[in-house]
Amino acid sequence: AAVGLAVFAWTVYESRHPLPQFEWDHSKETIAILGTGWGSTSLLKDLDTENYNVVLVSPRAYFLFTPLLPSSTVGTVELRSIMQPIRFLTRFKRREILYVEGNCTNIDPTKKYDYLVVGVGAENATFGIPGVKENACFLKEAWDARRIRTQLLDCLESATFPGQPESEINRLLHMVVVGGGPTGVEYAAELHDFLNDDIQTWYPDIAGKFKITLVEATPHVLGMFPKDLIQYTERTFAENKVEILNNTMVKEVHQKDILVLNKDKELETIPFGLLVWATGNTARPLVSDLISKLPKDLQNQRRGLVVDDWLAVKGSKGSIYALGDCSATKWAPTAQVASRQGAYLAEQFAQLYALKREKSKFVEEGNKPEEFVQKLQPFVYNHQGSLAYVGGDKAIADLPFGIHLSGAMTYLFWRSAYMSNLFSLRNRVLVGFDWLKAKTFGRDISR
Ligand code: NAD
Repeated sequence: AAVGLAVFAWTVYESRHPLPQFEWDHSKETIAILGTGWGSTSLLKDLDTENYNVVLVSPRAYFLFTPLLPSSTVGTVELRSIMQPIRFLTRFKRREILYVEGNCTNIDPTKKYDYLVVGVGAENATFGIPGVKENACFLKEAWDARRIRTQLLDCLESATFPGQPESEINRLLHMVVVGGGPTGVEYAAELHDFLNDDIQTWYPDIAGKFKITLVEATPHVLGMFPKDLIQYTERTFAENKVEILNNTMVKEVHQKDILVLNKDKELETIPFGLLVWATGNTARPLVSDLISKLPKDLQNQRRGLVVDDWLAVKGSKGSIYALGDCSATKWAPTAQVASRQGAYLAEQFAQLYALKREKSKFVEEGNKPEEFVQKLQPFVYNHQGSLAYVGGDKAIADLPFGIHLSGAMTYLFWRSAYMSNLFSLRNRVLVGFDWLKAKTFGRDISR
């Protein structure tokens, strides 16, 4: 215990005392990194900045641990606990990093720094469905979570306002989640826990009218999970009285209701108080624009930048790399993939630097530069499994070698996996306290 405490104290001390850094060295190559999400942050964490100058551009001066974003909308964890200011990372690199808080609006694939790494992620897909952007809440960024929390608590307080028609109370208390992928399922699960653990206690008069509906266009939720885990999820939702409307496609979104084509192929209007839109990702305009500037035969995917086995953007002559959700690869657009890609790129930049030095030595020895053989390992991804929280302290896990787990123990596994994946000791302590606080005092229902 004494050793543990000493390590903890030393880690805390170190985290508050960064050392002086080297200044920019104009004789070295410069890498520009776009984004502070899973891919870019993981690259930055492992990148040896002794050999490169680095410019980092992102509208968000922090890394956000997105797997716990649904929990933050109901107050199970606080938003700040899952954010890590990017300067807590950049200040610990050997060389100063130039961080610019801004939105990159245009990429010129020819006039740029020595290397460009595009890790800007994706935006929410709306499939051009009218009214989504105006009336639905997304669940991607910290501000989305804040907006949902405010609107959710607004709905609860408005529903208790005296003298309202029953239909209006029912509308305000109807929480609709569109999209039965992992985001939608985990969100509906968190809402259910909020209802069960807190709304029942603090709003006993209206708790019975609180309703959660998950709308999914295909025959089942969690299409990418194995059949037994899908069935487990659907059963758990049914037990928890969370209604799943499978085979139901949202066609239009209005201020207070959605128009859907239901499973009987009939148009139906569903009123809602809160609408959370989680139907997956699409390319950001910045990425689509870059795709249009590169050779069409090499860049033929609308969902993202096509990269080679070394994550170099095809058609960029090896000077632009893309990672995470803004790239189009054979892997699912997950945090796990992006973070592995970031770590791989950091290693690749170290190897590139070493190879360049070897090459100059090779040429100095009288050899022709084109005879230098440059060998870099391609990116390989080992999938470690998928986890999803399904509510009521239960989770599902689809692990390698066909291992499928579900239930309360899997939930503990889910918790420990998320805890160990959090960015820093500080985040772990904060989330740990939040969980303890929510269990002890209940979730905070102030706005
Ligand atoms: P998704 O693409 O996985 O799921 C979107 C769902 O929305 C689909 O099932 C689709 O059929 C449905 N849909 C689309 N249009 C619709 C409409 N008009 N009406 C009704 N339903 C409609 O999206 P996601 O859940 O945001 O996940 C994105 C990526 O992130 C995936 O690769 C996922 O695996 C990953 N992710 C993983 C986890 C986890 O492992 N726990 C959590 C969140 C996200």
